[in-house]
Amino acid sequence: MDFNIRANCEQCSQGTFMSAQGFLDNSDTINLKCPNGHETTAFNAAPRYALYFDKGISSFIDENYYEAFGWIYTSLEIFRKEFVKTVLNINHDIKPSILDNTYDKVFKSSERIYGAYSAAFLMIFGKNPEDKTFPYPLPQEVASHRNKLFHAGELQEVESIKIDCYKIYSHMRYVYGKFSKSGISHMQMYTSEGYSQWCADNHFTDEDVMSRKVTIYNHSLSSFQPNVGIDVDSTDGLPSFEELIEKELSLRLHKHLFNQ
Ligand SMILES: [Zn+2]
Repeated sequence: MDFNIRANCEQCSQGTFMSAQGFLDNSDTINLKCPNGHETTAFNAAPRYALYFDKGISSFIDENYYEAFGWIYTSLEIFRKEFVKTVLNINHDIKPSILDNTYDKVFKSSERIYGAYSAAFLMIFGKNPEDKTFPYPLPQEVASHRNKLFHAGELQEVESIKIDCYKIYSHMRYVYGKFSKSGISHMQMYTSEGYSQWCADNHFTDEDVMSRKVTIYNHSLSSFQPNVGIDVDSTDGLPSFEELIEKELSLRLHKHLFNQ
């Protein structure tokens, strides 16, 4: 399983640092268990596009370039869907449950999501996502490189993959940072709102939360840095590809120390 999650066990006595482990699947929940037998239900508040993006950068470090392209392109597809949901929720007050049903169950093909993304993008930025006058446009050629690799088996140069992956990153990170209020991304707020909805849907009481049997998992160390305000309009605002690699390497070191 790829998404092995480790978090501190909050039920172990305070001041003790105990690693609890669980696996992320397609649900919002991670069931964590620590060596002392405590079971914790954690809500995954880390955006999936950030987790998948990390996987991509990590694969890049391991020189698995095609795998890296695959993860980062998947991150983009998930990101587009989240952007659409956020715009419809923030600007039109449509409930997350209706949005999930629409874009995860009915109109879930990538072409349909891209259509919805282009429309939502036009509403917010007044341009389409491929428009060359947009600071970080995402040209169609990135999708065509990806299709050639994964559908036609046409191999790509490492440098070309790196350029495509960075185009995807800068597009996503710019949109994420630009669509914000008082320095906080609307997409970040939309993800956080899911926690209260999840508690309500599962009838978790304040007592459950106080006893720490229910918690929130927030992967703030991601190389995508969803919790960090980046001045996306500044020329040196977005990290370079090399800086993303460095961030992921320091994240690995942190994980390694945490697992000891
Ligand atoms: Zn414990």
